[in-house]
Amino acid sequence: MSLYTNMSSPEGQNRPLCDLRSDTVTRPCAGMRAAMASAEVGDDVYGDDPTVVRLEARMAGQLGKAAALFMPSGTQSNLVAMMAHCGRGDEVITADAYHVNRYEAAGASVLAGIALCALPLNGRAMLTPDAVRAAIKEDDPHHPVSRLLCLENTHYGAATALDEIAPVVAVAREAGMGAHLDGARFFNAIAALGLAPDELAAPFDTISVCLSKGLGAPVGSVLVGDRDLIARARRHRKILGGGLRQAGVLAAAGLYALDHTVQTLPDDHARAARFGAALQAMGAGVVRVCTNMVFLTPTSRDHGALRSHLADRGVVISGQAGEIRLVLHRDVTDDTLDQAIDAFHDFAGA
Ligand SMILES: *Cc1c(COP(=O)(O)O)cnc(C)c1O
Repeated sequence: MSLYTNMSSPEGQNRPLCDLRSDTVTRPCAGMRAAMASAEVGDDVYGDDPTVVRLEARMAGQLGKAAALFMPSGTQSNLVAMMAHCGRGDEVITADAYHVNRYEAAGASVLAGIALCALPLNGRAMLTPDAVRAAIKEDDPHHPVSRLLCLENTHYGAATALDEIAPVVAVAREAGMGAHLDGARFFNAIAALGLAPDELAAPFDTISVCLSKGLGAPVGSVLVGDRDLIARARRHRKILGGGLRQAGVLAAAGLYALDHTVQTLPDDHARAARFGAALQAMGAGVVRVCTNMVFLTPTSRDHGALRSHLADRGVVISGQAGEIRLVLHRDVTDDTLDQAIDAFHDFAGA
């Protein structure tokens, strides 16, 4: 069942104690709100917003690229990146299970005439060089033009190391293709892999990074790349209605996150590990932990009963049955996690 089916918190629930549905539920903290309130702003469509310009320069610098573009969402950022690389009739080679293929409503095809060639992932949540090589089309009028490789890191929390990424990107390069990274959780990936931002960005022409997930900003992503691609992306962002005016209010939240939140992501990973170990120890089911995510296939098959038991105790999980994704983020403290563990424990013992 879809990850996003029935994502809403159970009915009648006030603000939950512990919301484990996603790291998108994070709310801006007082310090971030203060930074937003005092942001210096201008009209960013005119290039006049100093806070947006600062965020873009900072992200470009950190990722070792020449330019960056503030985007309203990760979905629009991936779409604009694909439009910057590809024209109508071109193809993006990606994975079936990736966000760009499953959860972006085929925007590249609907709005840009771009085909998605979606391949299965291997057991380590990666595309193999052989699979990508076999998918690249020869120059023939029967085929779309294979123009771009799109990878995702982290993928369902799984961080892929550079030595697995490099050979796959190399295959695309041999065919003259571009390479884009959907790095919605880019900073979780580098924290887990122990890399600097520019090291993980290096194989790619463009990287999309979400500010609105574990980084805790209310809105926004940043697309990073070279000057030409980002200039094209700016045009496509305008076409899609994503040119924002006094966006510095939002960019200030992103800058605050780069200053204060990035370094707390390892705490979320540590809490995920502790949570996973606790679920395992109480016999709650089969448990996997990847960066800030815990995946639980509960012993009890009655997902509805588990969900409402937890909801009564202020712990919210998403509606998907089977393997449940539980996401740690900065609004889950050690104390609230302890209460969530107790709530799972009561259910296991009931
Ligand atoms: C959340 C997410 C996106 C899209 O971000 P939105 O801001 O929700 O549009 C893209 N890719 C991945 C892997 C994501 O997790």
